[in-house]
Amino acid sequence: MVEQAATGAADTDQADAAARAVDPDQVLAFARALIAAPSENPGGTEHAAAAVASDILSELHAEPRTIRSPDGRPSVVASLGADPRPALAWNGHLDVVPAGDPSTWSHDPWAGDVDGGKLIGRGAADMKGPIAAALAAAAALGRAGLKLSGRLTFHLAADEELAGIHGTKVLWEHGLLDQDACVVGEPSDLSIGLAERGGAWITATARGRAAHGSQPQLGVNAITSMARLLLRLPEVLPDREHPLVGRPTVNAALITGGSAPNVVPDRCQVDIDRRIVPGETDPAEVLAPFDRLGDDIRSEYPEVDLTFQLREWTDAAEAPADSVIADVARAAVTAERATASADVGFTGITDARFYINQAHIPTVILGPGSLSVAHTADEWVEVGDLVAAARIYARMFVTFLGTAPRPNA
Ligand SMILES: [Zn+2]
Repeated sequence: MVEQAATGAADTDQADAAARAVDPDQVLAFARALIAAPSENPGGTEHAAAAVASDILSELHAEPRTIRSPDGRPSVVASLGADPRPALAWNGHLDVVPAGDPSTWSHDPWAGDVDGGKLIGRGAADMKGPIAAALAAAAALGRAGLKLSGRLTFHLAADEELAGIHGTKVLWEHGLLDQDACVVGEPSDLSIGLAERGGAWITATARGRAAHGSQPQLGVNAITSMARLLLRLPEVLPDREHPLVGRPTVNAALITGGSAPNVVPDRCQVDIDRRIVPGETDPAEVLAPFDRLGDDIRSEYPEVDLTFQLREWTDAAEAPADSVIADVARAAVTAERATASADVGFTGITDARFYINQAHIPTVILGPGSLSVAHTADEWVEVGDLVAAARIYARMFVTFLGTAPRPNA
């Protein structure tokens, strides 16, 4: 696929006009409406949030349709613009992580209260706020009397928080990831995200020998064996660093073991979350240091019996830094912000990987708000950043897709 972008003085004027036409009240109203439609994942569905987004897109004459996963989870797809090319996808996820205990919040997580210039609520930053900004950017184009020449397609997806299997992956399987470029609106503090880490989920199993709890010398304690592993876990990490996403990490996430308080446990399992960086592409290479560490521990403690199994692998992703969409994003951010844009990496996993790794589409991750407040109580985003994001998206849509003369203009 060939990226295209219209350039020139006329388009700069039109990008300015599009940005000026963004209505801050509308950005906020869209965000509050989306937050008020809970879509907790796990525990809920995206139906209410998809309905809110579809209503907004219908008003924009974008003709939304719902693509469902085999178990009925809805993703909303809608397009604006005259010609099929150039084509730009804007992706955001409709689901949010659970709000958790409401008493840990200072505001109702679903009310979308504004306090001290901050919009507070589950999904304010991750990522109903960014979706609202993108929808308000599309609305601004109409208000400015601009009609896109190429095609802008919204992919508002289900199920990003639990790996996107029922959301963006379904859109990919339907052949809908065929654009020339993509913007994923995950909260990046309005920096240009070009890489993200992946993950290897590994189960470690320690086997021992059960015995009466009063005679532990007759058994082999599997929990003790596991403890010897866990304290040395950082040794499995390679000495490598990626310029945007940093170093690989390892985290012992979930542990089970033992059968009763008076029995020497014969089994202990730990789910290990090993995050990989771009360039780490071989699961065997990631798994091998675990086996080596197990052998090393066994050489000191012969009773230790450790095995490791790779349960799931998610590739890391890295998009080209010199793509047209990356340049368009940098120019739009620079036009709206006092400081120049920065290229950054994401420590977490996003749906950008489907566009980058599966569809081979040049992609940037760019959105308002910070990942550090996502998934927390009192999740928030600066209202000013939401509006800035809408203006940045409006500029990008016009610059990348160009504008067509209106029939009646
Ligand atoms: Zn997110």
